[in-house]
Amino acid sequence: MKIRDIIESKGRTVSFEFFPPKTQRGEDVLFETIKRLSVFKPDYVSITYGAGGTTKDKTMSVVERINRDNPFSVVPHLTGIGCNKKEITAIVEYYKRIGIENILAFRGDPTEETSKLPKIKDGFNYAKDLIAFLNESNSFCIGAGVYPEGHPDSLDLNMDMFYTKEKVSAGADFFVTQMFFDNSFFYDFLRRADKAEINVPIIPGIMLLNNFPKVKQLSGMCKATIPVELDKLMVKYADSPESIQKVSIDYTTKQCEDLLSQGIKHFHFYTLNQWQIVSKVIENLSLKAKS
Ligand code: FAD
Repeated sequence: MKIRDIIESKGRTVSFEFFPPKTQRGEDVLFETIKRLSVFKPDYVSITYGAGGTTKDKTMSVVERINRDNPFSVVPHLTGIGCNKKEITAIVEYYKRIGIENILAFRGDPTEETSKLPKIKDGFNYAKDLIAFLNESNSFCIGAGVYPEGHPDSLDLNMDMFYTKEKVSAGADFFVTQMFFDNSFFYDFLRRADKAEINVPIIPGIMLLNNFPKVKQLSGMCKATIPVELDKLMVKYADSPESIQKVSIDYTTKQCEDLLSQGIKHFHFYTLNQWQIVSKVIENLSLKAKS
């Protein structure tokens, strides 16, 4: 089912992001996580695509397996960086064959080794180019990324919003945000998007604090502010797994409660392939009943 139809037809949605693991052990953990989280009847799950397309084959095989074995929609992430149109066409033809109806489309980032954006003949400079290409001869529902605190390369928030609007003109049906830990950035983004007459759904991407060092590293890379109070808690409890779990559950539950109180109805959780914390958060919020 297409995400735009799911959003339109449901008052509230819950979805999860997973990444394709590199090892057999990681794969076992991923599929156990999916099994544990399926009790919440997710509306869809998304599978990331490694920087510079480095997980292309793994992303495709994980998407195929989850899609085959589960009732919910599976949304592959896809990036245009370093790819030409022929390569993207081969990937999307595969997704069409296995019944995928939605794609999350991004520009992507260079890998640590390359560090520069490659120039590819017949390639894609920005996410909007990939979105427009996907829309040319396919009927996918397309999601794209937005940045409540601005994209790290953006010089100013107005240009950032201008480019966000271009993604809608190119055919983006919905947005998922970059992680944020202070909801005021998200509310400000919604106000600015409204002013820019962006009227597709904007779904908050909620990062679970499963692993403090990893979350700090990721938030540093994408310039998502970690509030001072949260940072203090992360430092204080760095060596106590039980406390980390408690702090994480409390923090994310409060963050989501605040979003719910402001009328936010759709939640996309960055699980980092772990179920323990997100399960507790969803139970605390009664977002989805077990059955
Ligand atoms: P774009 O929209 O193309 O923007 C990139 C930069 O270019 C921004 O600074 C923008 O302001 C600027 N820009 C846009 N258009 C123009 C223009 N016409 N002229 C000049 N400047 C312009 N990456 C992965 O590799 N794999 C993933 O699976 C993945 N999943 C993600 C999931 C989410 C929810 C989000 C928010 C991001 C994800 N990313 C992923 C990261 C993403 O690839 C990076 O943030 C990347 O740096 C930008 O991607 P974009 O699609 O937002 O790019």
